[in-house]
Amino acid sequence: MAITSVNPATEQTIATFEIDTPEQVEHKLEAAARAQREWRRTDIADRTALLTRIAEVLREGKEEYAQVITAEMGKPIAESRAEIEKCAVTLDYYAEHAPKFLANERVASNASESAIVFDPLGVVLAIMPWNYPFWQFFRFAAPALAAGNAPLLKHANNVPQSALAVEDIVRRAGAPEGLCTTLIIDAKDVAALIDDDRVAAVTLTGSTQVGRIVASQAGKALKKQVLELGGSDPFIVLADADIQEAAKVAVKARFTNVGQSCVNAKRFIVQESVADEFVAAFVDHVSALKVGDPTEDDTNIGPMARGNLRDELHQQVLRTLENGRTVLKLGGAPLDGPGFYYPPTVIDQVEPGDTAFDEETFGPVAAIIRARDVDHAIELANDTEYGLGAALWTQDLDLARRLTRQIDAGAVFVNGMVASDARLPFGGIKASGYGRELGDYGLREFVNIKTVWIG
Ligand code: NAP
Repeated sequence: MAITSVNPATEQTIATFEIDTPEQVEHKLEAAARAQREWRRTDIADRTALLTRIAEVLREGKEEYAQVITAEMGKPIAESRAEIEKCAVTLDYYAEHAPKFLANERVASNASESAIVFDPLGVVLAIMPWNYPFWQFFRFAAPALAAGNAPLLKHANNVPQSALAVEDIVRRAGAPEGLCTTLIIDAKDVAALIDDDRVAAVTLTGSTQVGRIVASQAGKALKKQVLELGGSDPFIVLADADIQEAAKVAVKARFTNVGQSCVNAKRFIVQESVADEFVAAFVDHVSALKVGDPTEDDTNIGPMARGNLRDELHQQVLRTLENGRTVLKLGGAPLDGPGFYYPPTVIDQVEPGDTAFDEETFGPVAAIIRARDVDHAIELANDTEYGLGAALWTQDLDLARRLTRQIDAGAVFVNGMVASDARLPFGGIKASGYGRELGDYGLREFVNIKTVWIG
C-alpha cells in the first residue's frame, strides 16, 4: 500500500510513499520509547538547546520548506513562509521559557519539605491535520520536547512530504535517534497505537468527528489526551464598531489559509443597523482578493487542499441556498480547469438552521448573519455546537469586557482576529475539544504534576 502527495493546484502526483510495515512501526515505537527514557534524564539546558537548533534549521531552510507546504496542500507561498517563521518563533519561546515553566514549585504543608515537580509522560502520539502541516506539529512538539517527551507523529495522509520533513528537521538539529518519529500509516492503524503500552498520551488536531473516535479509544485505554477540533467561530460586529476596519480584518480572518483554519471566522454576526455598510465594505475587500497560482507571491487564494474537501464545501453552499432566504454574493461554484479552486463566496441573510450557520465550513465561504441587538448577537454567537474562538468588535471596552465572559469559546479577541500566539493558551470547549496548547498551560498538558513530600 502507498500514499501519494498530490499538488492541489495542478492535480498532479508529486510523490508516492510506501506505508510502513508492521515491523517498521514496531521498530519506530521501540526506538521512540528507548530515546524518551534517555531524553527525560537529559538536562533541561540541553533540551532547550535542541529547540533553538530546530528553529535555526527551520529558518535556514525556510524557502525549501515553504515550497513543500505550498506544493502539497496549496497554501499561498507567502503564508507558507509565515508558517515556518511562526514555528521558529514558538520554538524560541519555549527554549527561553520552558526552564521557568518546568521549575520545581515549593509549597508549604505539614511536611518538612514539599514541592511540585514536572516529569514527562513519555511517548506522545500526535495525530495531525494537513492545514498547517508544520505549525500544528511544532506547536505541540516544542513544549513536549522541552518537557522530556518523545513525539510520535501520524500526520494527515495528504501531506507525507511535510510529515517526513519535520522528522528530518528535528534529526538534523541534533535530536537523539528515535526521539521524534514520523509514522507513515493508515488512519485505521492508529487505534492499535493508542492501545500500545509504550504510548503514554495522545494529542489530536482534527475534525470533531475523528475527535470522538480518538477520545473514546484513548479513554478506554486511560490515556491522557488533548483534542483540538473544529470550530465555527463568530465574528461579532456591534453598531458602534469601526465598521471599515472590522470589514478589512474580517476578510483576513475568513480567507487566510484559503479558509481552511479552525480559527478562521466563519459566521459574521453583524448588528442590523450597520449590516449593509459592513457587507458592502466586506464584499469590496473580498473582490480584491487574488485567486490563482499559490506559488506566486501576491496570490491570496490558492486551491483547496483536496478535491473531496472542495466538493463537501460546495454541497454546504448549495444546501444553505436551498433554504431560499439567502443572497449569494461572489463565487458560489467550483472554478473550471485543473486545481481544486473554490472562489471566495459570501452568503448574506444566513440564519440558524442554515447549513452555513449550523456546520463548520472549512473553505473560502463567509456567512453573514444579522442580529437585532447586542443580546441577540451573543445568543447567535453561542448558538453552535463549537466553542473555539470568537472575535468581538465594539468601541465600548467596558461592554466588551463584560461580553467576553458571556461568549462560549476558548478565546475571545476584541477588535482583532483570532490567532494563536506561543505566549497565550489555545484550545476550545464544547465540540471544539478540550485541553490547551501553547503558553505554560500547553506545556503542562503532557507532564506528570508530581507531589514530592518529605517528612
Ligand atoms: P481529520 O479528517 O479529522 O484528520 C485529522 C487527522 O486524523 C489526520 O491525521 C487523519 O489521518 C487522522 N484520522 C482520520 N481518521 C482517523 C481515525 N479513525 N482514527 C485516528 N486518526 C484518524 O481532519 P482534517 O480534515 O485533516 O482537518 C480539518 C479539521 O481539523 C477541521 O475540522 C478543523 O477545524 C480541525 N482543526 C482544528 C484545529 C484546532 O487547533 N482546534 C487546528 C486545525 C484544524 P488521514 O489523513 O490518514 O485520514
